Amino acid sequence: MGEAESKAALAGVYSQGKEPRLVSVSESGHDEAWAIGDTLFIVPAIPPDASPLLEYALRVRRDATFTGSCSDCGATVGLLAFANTNNAAFNHSSISHRNNCPALDENVTPLLLEHHRERAGQTLEQQLKSATKQTRLKIESTPKDKRIPIKNVKFEKWATKFIDDHLEAASACGHLKANVAQTWNMSTGDGTWKCNECFAYYQEAVRKGEVPLSYQEEHTCDRCRKFAPPLEPMMIRIDNFFIVGAMCSPCSAESQQSPEPSQSKPRRRKGTRRGSNSRKRR
Ligand SMILES: [Zn+2]
Ligand SMILES: [Zn+2]
Ligand SMILES: [Zn+2]
Repeated sequence: MGEAESKAALAGVYSQGKEPRLVSVSESGHDEAWAIGDTLFIVPAIPPDASPLLEYALRVRRDATFTGSCSDCGATVGLLAFANTNNAAFNHSSISHRNNCPALDENVTPLLLEHHRERAGQTLEQQLKSATKQTRLKIESTPKDKRIPIKNVKFEKWATKFIDDHLEAASACGHLKANVAQTWNMSTGDGTWKCNECFAYYQEAVRKGEVPLSYQEEHTCDRCRKFAPPLEPMMIRIDNFFIVGAMCSPCSAESQQSPEPSQSKPRRRKGTRRGSNSRKRR
């Protein structure tokens, strides 16, 4: 295919207005294949623990690849090389970013290589420790009224078992398979493990109403599995695992109870109605 044809073909891809979708992740976890329509793009994965500068540069570079123009320096798609593998149009597009653009290969590649080098020098234990810290910080950055700390040991046991069961049964995104030491996210309505990046895309799709849940599932408590609308939001973090879902009011209340109330505090009598706290927070 000549360059003019390639450009025309790519312009056609961008004008479709289709959302890019992740097709696969390389075994190393360093590269991703994305498709827009039936055209494939290969972009570097954004490492879960990238520095803010590296993350920004990779995001700008990725968006430029997916849209044909750079949001930082304004460059548009330039030289193209097409290679046809079977029927799939495999596409390498190059965008001539300006010298001071963070997405320019010469600027982003050294940062990326340095990042991979640093990570390769860490033990798995160090990587997991840092993943746990990142996950904790992620929860702490959500507004206080949206996160529900679990105070009940019995409840934590249930959560740990829930995670264990799902580690065996549920599938995980390619990023997690390539690199286990990062935050594992799950929405119970979806039931698959996702890295932060894939989880953000998933939550965006939910927000746009692209991920329909059955009415039954949407109103079933994750803990007791009772159908009990309306539910209260649930957020659980254990180590580097993060789960969002929903619970019925009794389970939610139980998660907030201290299992061994100290003698000095009066115990609430059985049957006492909860006060204004019982309002649904959905
Ligand atoms: Zn640029
Ligand atoms: Zn992922
Ligand atoms: Zn329940």
